[in-house]
Parts: sequence; structure tokens; C-alpha cells
Amino acid sequence: MPRRQETESWGHSTVETACPLDCPDSCTLHVTVENGRIVKIDGGHTNPSTRDFICGKVRRFADRVYGEDRVLYPSIRKGPKGQGVFTRVSWDEALDQIAQRMLEIRNQFGAEAILPYCYGGSNGLLTQDTADATLFRSFGTSRLARTVCAAPTGAANLGLYGKMAGVTYQDYVHARLIVLWGVNPAASGIHLIPFLKDARAAGAKLVVIDPRTTSLARQADLHIAPHPGTDLPLALAIHNYLFERGFADTAFLDEHARGADRLRARAAEWPIARAAQAAGVDAAVLEQFADLYARTSPALVRCGWGLERNRNGGSAAAAVLALPAVAGKFRMRGGGFSMSNSLAWGIKSAQWNDVPEPPTRVVNMNHLGRALLDYDDPPVKMLFVYNCNPLVTVPDQNRIMQGLQRDDLFTVVYEQVFTDTARFADVVLPATTFLENYDIAKGYGPISLQLVRPVIEPVGEARPNAEAFSDLASRLGIADAEEETDTLLRVVGRIPPEIGSELLEQGAATPPFDGGPVQFVDVFPLTADRKVDLFPEALDAEAPAGLYGFQPDPATAKHPLALISPASEKTVSSTLGELRQRAAVLQMHPSDASARGLSSDDPVRVFNDLGEVHCPVAVTRDVLPGTVSLSKGIWRKSTYNGATGTALVPDSLTDLGGGACFNDARVEVALLGRH
Ligand code: SF4
Repeated sequence: MPRRQETESWGHSTVETACPLDCPDSCTLHVTVENGRIVKIDGGHTNPSTRDFICGKVRRFADRVYGEDRVLYPSIRKGPKGQGVFTRVSWDEALDQIAQRMLEIRNQFGAEAILPYCYGGSNGLLTQDTADATLFRSFGTSRLARTVCAAPTGAANLGLYGKMAGVTYQDYVHARLIVLWGVNPAASGIHLIPFLKDARAAGAKLVVIDPRTTSLARQADLHIAPHPGTDLPLALAIHNYLFERGFADTAFLDEHARGADRLRARAAEWPIARAAQAAGVDAAVLEQFADLYARTSPALVRCGWGLERNRNGGSAAAAVLALPAVAGKFRMRGGGFSMSNSLAWGIKSAQWNDVPEPPTRVVNMNHLGRALLDYDDPPVKMLFVYNCNPLVTVPDQNRIMQGLQRDDLFTVVYEQVFTDTARFADVVLPATTFLENYDIAKGYGPISLQLVRPVIEPVGEARPNAEAFSDLASRLGIADAEEETDTLLRVVGRIPPEIGSELLEQGAATPPFDGGPVQFVDVFPLTADRKVDLFPEALDAEAPAGLYGFQPDPATAKHPLALISPASEKTVSSTLGELRQRAAVLQMHPSDASARGLSSDDPVRVFNDLGEVHCPVAVTRDVLPGTVSLSKGIWRKSTYNGATGTALVPDSLTDLGGGACFNDARVEVALLGRH
């Protein structure tokens, strides 16, 4: 059984652990500790795909661990909500107060008036869906649809392939064509870059589909920059090209697919010229790409998460994921698609959660603002936020802020640092970081499963999630309090024993298929008949315009510019946003800037009917005309007026999966002071 090391015994040591942050790569880390304090974080080699190096984000993670924003002890609000003034209390006082409020709210309004609010991106298997699930399920609180990210692509992948494992980094070198569609690994998933270089050195061509001219787009053989929200017509035009020009692999489709005729019928509505016009791209370039894809094998499509963040996102992901089936790109190493491999181990939290989900109200996390302000059956009286910073990561920031200011709302935030959301809390609880607790990190790029070990004692009075939630559960008479090592052993005890024992003994488990499955050879769709379903009825029924149905651009004459919010190389969603020193910058194309009389560094207002953001502008050809870009994950202190990009994002939902439509924000931009 793993044991915490005693601080005194550390002296100078290097501890191996793994990074569970929301990034596909799941690096092995070597953390150097001197006298109980982290002095260096570097890469290790247990996960071979991460090749001994790590990103700059985690290299400076100690700045978060020991930073001035760190939550060191439990505290309760003093003064008006949002001012961030708190008084220190003990864990006992804080948890007793929360338990008492939970009981009062359940008595008066019913337990569904309590809304637990979390997101799992940067967690391993222990920090979410363990003791927290036992607590909230047993108590009968509202449930949360955790759909802010990856829900539309997940729905598409599930519908078509049952979330079949994809091509992993190590097999990119075998591809002769690599398509990066809606993904920028230079910012999120940097370990793919050396594999791309190897593949290109071996002769692979690179196509990048991204509305921005990223560094990878500059290096690509072909860069297609569609207007945000138009990936769907592009993908359908390629399907149409494949079917109409005789490139469809009918033998594969007959043996391994269902629904090809219905996909073909929808794709027929999108000849190259029409799709190119809808997406604002050159028809000749689109045809060149279709022909290159049709004729090149092995061909690999890396489907990212950028294309899902709009009203057509689920159908777009489905159409992209369907391409290798229609074009016959499976059954060869380096061919097929690559997306999330998080289910490749077949491990799900249902294996260790003995309390089933109750049939209580489900709240879509993208509707937090309206849940706090409008829901009345019952109203939300307690919001329990953990593993999440919704004030700057979820659509419709101004409504969320209005909701958080409600005097009759009791908000608990259990966090590592004083986030923008935490400043509105009634009770703040200190959480450990992954360098202070156990966890199990599951990569979703490479297929990896690694043990996360605490390398230092918890800073201040921070506690691991499993312990704090089980402590609260014990105060409510739900379950016994549990130490995190007990939770670790309970979880490991429910996964296949050969995986669990290797994980505990070696710190990592050996991945299936040597970590490199060939699709339709080693792995098959996890659908009932092991076939790819190219037209799932359930998805067709769910999408407002039907599956593969295109919904037009939401721009208006008043708000003509599409605002996108791509991942940056500085933060993991909003994690580490507290360390940003300079103001966030809006990127704008020269033609749009000159039409508005703007120059680089001018202070601007970016606005629509939902809100406005004040920040400097950078004039650059890296974004398309008609599109402006502001990084995701920035904190309120990083703009002039304390509003961030989510203040401009509507809380409308994607066609599939109930995801967030970040890239459907349509805005106007003007010099600050000029109205
Ligand atoms: S965020 Fe990604 S690249 Fe950075 S250390 Fe973690 S897994 Fe590696």
C-alpha cells in the first residue's frame, strides 16, 4: 500500500508522479523536493509518449502551490458577496456549518435545492466521483450535466463508434497524411508535436483546419481556415466528394457500417462550391484537400474539441469522425481517427460507486446563470463548487455573477486558490493540488494509467477531496469518514486486478495493445453489432436540424464578428490564470481593425447584448477577417473591466450533447470610450 513519506526524511529527493491536469498527454513527472518544498518539476519517462519533457504550465506549478492566491485554511465570508473578505475558521466549524445548511435546505426546500457543481477535466479517478458522489447521491441533491467541454464530440463518438479507442501518438509516424481538425497541440497536448515532426520527416503531409493561423498551420502543406461554426459543411462536402467520385470504400461500409446511405443523402446537399462558400474558404483548396484525403493512405484525422463549440458542433464532430469509415482509412497502422482515448481501459466510476444516481433534477452546467436566477422548482439555495471555476469558464458570466450575489444563496467553494468564483463564496475550503494528494491519472491522448503520488505535505490546512467529502458525509450520517489511501485502495480494488496491482507496484499499468491499437483490427466499435453507425437515430432525433443538419450563423448587423476563445499555452482552462501578469489581448484582422479605426494596443470594448469586455487589441493576420479571438480561461483581473470572454457567450446549447456554444458569441468592437 502506498504511504506518504515523512517530510523530515525527505531532505533532497526526486519523486516520480504523474500529471492529471486536463491535457491529453498525462506526463510522468519528476519533482525535486528539498526540505519538504518543491524546487523543480520536470519530465519523467514512465509514460513513453511524453518523452521526458513537460509543458511550461506545469513547470511553474509550484507558483500556484505556494502562491499568494493559495487557499490555506477554511474560511467564512465577512462582508458583501464578491468582495473576497473572509475569516479563518476550523475545518470542524466549516463542515458543521455546511452540514447544518444542507439539512435546513433539505427540510425547507427539498434536497434538489442543493446543486453540486464540478468539472472533471483536471482530475484523476480519485478527486471526482468517489466520496463526493456518495455524499451528493445519498443526500438526493440535484445532479449536474457536466457538458461544458467534450460533450458534443463525446456524443458523436459514442453514437458512431461507442467511443472506440483511437490512434495513439506513437502510430502517427506511420501516417502519410495527418489532418489536425479543430485542435492546436502546440497549446494543448504538446507531446504530439515531436510525433508530427517524425511523421513529416517520414513523408507525411499535414493539413490543418483552424480559423487561426497557428504555428502548425504555418508549417502545414494545406491550411484551411473556416469561419467558426462551419466545419460541418466542410466535412459533408468531403463525404459528398468521396461518394460521388467513387472513393467511398463500399466493401468496408457493407461489412462494418450502418447508415451510409442516409449520411450520403445529407452530404449530397453540400457540393464543394456550396460548402466552400458557407465556410468562407477557397473551393479549389477544399477540393484539393478532399482529393488528397481520398487518395492518401494511411490517413489520420485528429479530431479536436475546437469544432464542437458551436450550434453545429456535434454534427460536425460526427461528420469528421465518419470520414475514415467512408474513405476506407481503417485497418492499417497510422490510419483512422484519433480523439479521446479515456475509455480505452474500460474503467468507469460506476465500478466503485455503490450508490446509484438518484432520479433527481438534472441541471446543465452551461445553464448555471439561469439555474441560479430562474429555477424555482425548487430554487437553488446551495451551490457547492469544487474542481471548477464557473464564473470565468461557463457561458453568460453576468447572469452567473448576478446569481452568485443572491443573499439567499449559500455558496461553498472548495478550491486550491482564491478563484473568481471563490470570492463569491460563503464558505471556502482549502483543497490539495495533485502534488499533495494521491490520484490516478488517465491519459486521453496516449493510453496511459499512472499513479499520482503526493510529493509534499498539504500546504496550509488543505485536504484531498476524498477526505473532505467523506468527512462531510460522516457528519450527515451517510458514510464513514475515509482517508485518501482508503479511497485509493477501494478504487483500485474495483478495477481489474492485474491493472490495479501493476499501478500500485510500478506506478503505471501496461496499456492494452502495447498502447497502439489499430482500429478495426485490434479494436472495434463498442456498438451492439460492432459496426460503425453513420446515422444514429438517437442523434438524428436530438439535433434541432437533424443529424448533419446545418444551422446558420447567428451574426447580426449589430454584432457581426465571431468571437472565438481558444486554449492558450499559459493555462489549463482557467487553472494557472491567477499567475497571468499582463492584460488579455483581443486579436483582430487588419481589415476589421481598419474598418473600425483601431490599431494594435488600443483599448477596446468588445460587446454584445450579454455584456462587454474591455482589453487591448492586437491587430494580426493570424485570425480571419470577421473573427476575433480572446483566450479561454482568463481571470477577471486580466481585463480592464473585470469581465472575461464568457460574458459575451450565450448559454445556448450545441446540437448534440448539451455542450457550450463558446464560438457562437457574436460581437462588435469599438475603441474604448467611443460609443
Ligand atoms: S499539462 Fe499536459 S503537457 Fe503539461 S505536464 Fe500536464 S500532461 Fe504534461
